[in-house]
Amino acid sequence: MNEGVFKSYIDLLNSGHSSRKAIKKLREKDKDFELTLENREQMALNLIEKEMKKYDKTVVACSWGKDSVVVLHLLKRVSDKLDKEFDVLWNNTKFHYPDVYRLKDQLEKDWDLKIVETKAEKSFWEITEEFGWPGVNSGDRSDRANQACCYYIKKKPTKKAIKNNKWDLYFDGLTAYESDRRYLNLKDYGVSHYHKTFGLQKVHPIGWWTVNDVWDYIEKYDVPYIDLYDKGVGKYTKRGYSEEQQGHRVDRAIRNGCWCCTLALKYQPEKMKQLREHYPKMWKALMDKGLAKEIAKRKLGQQSTLFDGFFDEETKDNYLENRPCWFDKI
Ligand code: SF4
Repeated sequence: MNEGVFKSYIDLLNSGHSSRKAIKKLREKDKDFELTLENREQMALNLIEKEMKKYDKTVVACSWGKDSVVVLHLLKRVSDKLDKEFDVLWNNTKFHYPDVYRLKDQLEKDWDLKIVETKAEKSFWEITEEFGWPGVNSGDRSDRANQACCYYIKKKPTKKAIKNNKWDLYFDGLTAYESDRRYLNLKDYGVSHYHKTFGLQKVHPIGWWTVNDVWDYIEKYDVPYIDLYDKGVGKYTKRGYSEEQQGHRVDRAIRNGCWCCTLALKYQPEKMKQLREHYPKMWKALMDKGLAKEIAKRKLGQQSTLFDGFFDEETKDNYLENRPCWFDKI
């Protein structure tokens, strides 16, 4: 793809067009315009290079999930070419899937990464004690527990790290098709914008990549990834499936993140099922910490005699053993 087409595409994304609309517009000019993985890859590399040349101190946020590792891989290709360094920001939530720690150590060594690790300001258990379980009340991102949780575990430590390290350019693996909120974020702010709260330029090089683009790239370059993605349940797999949500597409596929997170309980029971089937000890610890009781209270709460009479510490294990799937959703 030539520079002019690349620029038009990025300009359209930055002016609030979704990837689909930008492609449609470019097809009006050139009916053969096609966006292949090679085009997407080249555009991501061009965008990274363009931004890295403009700023002094680059950081890439990495959770060691598939999207951030792909961005890390792309960034490494550009930084080797430009002979420019970058840091890797890792929010160590202490609630990563076990294989995350292995991949982090492997890439730190093999790719010679300089990792800046942040620590949570409050632990997940302290947060649930104080604010409740994320997403369990309202089930959307405005939920107070969700906001407090992401704030103390990720946002506040990130802000501090940005200030301490004086980064002025920040890359991440955010993609539009992960959720409504991310779609709107990409649509409103584009793939590169100044982020007021963090006080730096934020860039999403794979913002309009689909889950299949990400896996195609991983397979093409044999990029290492965590084993979580191969532990599917039903149609909840690494490539997953797509569905239309409020007029746009959402990819429902296995996601990395905090294994303890309860945000998906209302809309994607497969996430809890995956934890239960593939990480049974972690699932049981979560249930014993009070989640089983919370779910029972939510589901039976309207019929208080059922909850008060039939669900207590003694009967809990019996329920968990005989009807575990009942605790996959609220
Ligand atoms: S992803 Fe979930 S568990 Fe992790 S910080 Fe955010 S709300 Fe908390």
